[in-house]
Amino acid sequence: MAVSVNRHFGELGGSYLFSEVGRRVAEFQKENPDRSIIRMGIGDVTRPIPPVIVEAMKKAAGEMGTQEGFHGYGPEPGYGFLREAVAGYYSRRGVELSPEEIFISDGAKSDLGNLGDIFDAECSVLVTDPVYPAYVDSAVMSGRKVFYAAASAEQGFIPLPAQKGYLQEGDIIFLCSPNNPTGAVMTREMLEQWVEFARRHGRLIVFDAAYECFIQDDEIPHSIFEIEGAKECALEICSFSKKAGFTGLRCGYTVIPKELVVDGVSVRDLWFRRQSTRFNGASYITQRAAEAVFTPEGEAALEENLAYYRANAAILSEMLTECGVRHTGGKNAPYIWMECGVRNAFYTGKPGTGGILDSWTFFDRLLKEEGVVGTPGAGFGKAGEGFLRLTAFSTRENTLEAAERMKKFFRSL
Ligand code: PLP
Repeated sequence: MAVSVNRHFGELGGSYLFSEVGRRVAEFQKENPDRSIIRMGIGDVTRPIPPVIVEAMKKAAGEMGTQEGFHGYGPEPGYGFLREAVAGYYSRRGVELSPEEIFISDGAKSDLGNLGDIFDAECSVLVTDPVYPAYVDSAVMSGRKVFYAAASAEQGFIPLPAQKGYLQEGDIIFLCSPNNPTGAVMTREMLEQWVEFARRHGRLIVFDAAYECFIQDDEIPHSIFEIEGAKECALEICSFSKKAGFTGLRCGYTVIPKELVVDGVSVRDLWFRRQSTRFNGASYITQRAAEAVFTPEGEAALEENLAYYRANAAILSEMLTECGVRHTGGKNAPYIWMECGVRNAFYTGKPGTGGILDSWTFFDRLLKEEGVVGTPGAGFGKAGEGFLRLTAFSTRENTLEAAERMKKFFRSL
């Protein structure tokens, strides 16, 4: 037999959302080299890594140059010191985990995609709509069927299992709270509903907690394991990217409780086997940096960065309120999800009517008229049409400037 390609790649939608945004911005910049552009789209951070974490990295780098401190291949699931530090972080929230249930990775995105390796190719996936596109594309690449649980603005963009239509579909359910892209957060009651549903119907929840550090309200759970029974039906993926500015450094972790058993097999054991075969661990230097994240000094320094981003979110949210634009997120999340305009009497409930533009038209106009870049909501799924995502990860200066420009833009609409 001759070699053939994975035909499922042909089933992927057009270019990845951020590539398309990048292409349009590059084209605009080429045609208008003198215009200043403010990027409020891609969710990369801008604050540098705090000195206490950089010092931990330097120390680890120094060790690598000594006979006694040199580290070669590390344990595939991560060094004990970091797994223990992560377990300690959970313990402070009342979630007891053994370090053996924690797997260190080079970031959440890798684990989100790689997890598919340990589940039958026939298992389908249920995602929310709007959705972080990587869940969908990873599932499509491995030939899985993808079902959507749509959520409207009226529902606060949070689908619940009791809603009609989801009961039959999706063996693996992806939930993300605080949510990318909508900034919506799931309450304890909402998570309880999903856990109860997953247990009753034999589904698995993959809980993406990449933005848990942005939660400010005490009653909002940071982890799905704060919900009773979740250890039997869920695993959790988390990241140091946004919490500690590791988008370039790369580190994350996945928690798979021993209680999680599918087809009589421990999911944790399968993942251990998978990682031992296909992953050689995150670097020692990176893991020492991640360990410093959980020290009191690390946490205090990171809190300053988080406060900075929260203040950015407040600037954007206040501007939108002043302009009469409906929006969610920004309080317990670094994303603001805004409607593309201001509704008037001719609004029929559909984007493109009564003062609300469709996502890409709004994106193009905001770029061309004011040089501000957001991320079109339609790129996150059908239910995202008519919305735009802004991020709080920009610099203060750019956030203030973007807010001024957007105010002007709304006046001209
Ligand atoms: N999960 C969500 C919801 C994200 O928004 C992102 C990054 O933007 C990731 C995971 C990926 O995180 P990492 O940088 O750890 O790969």
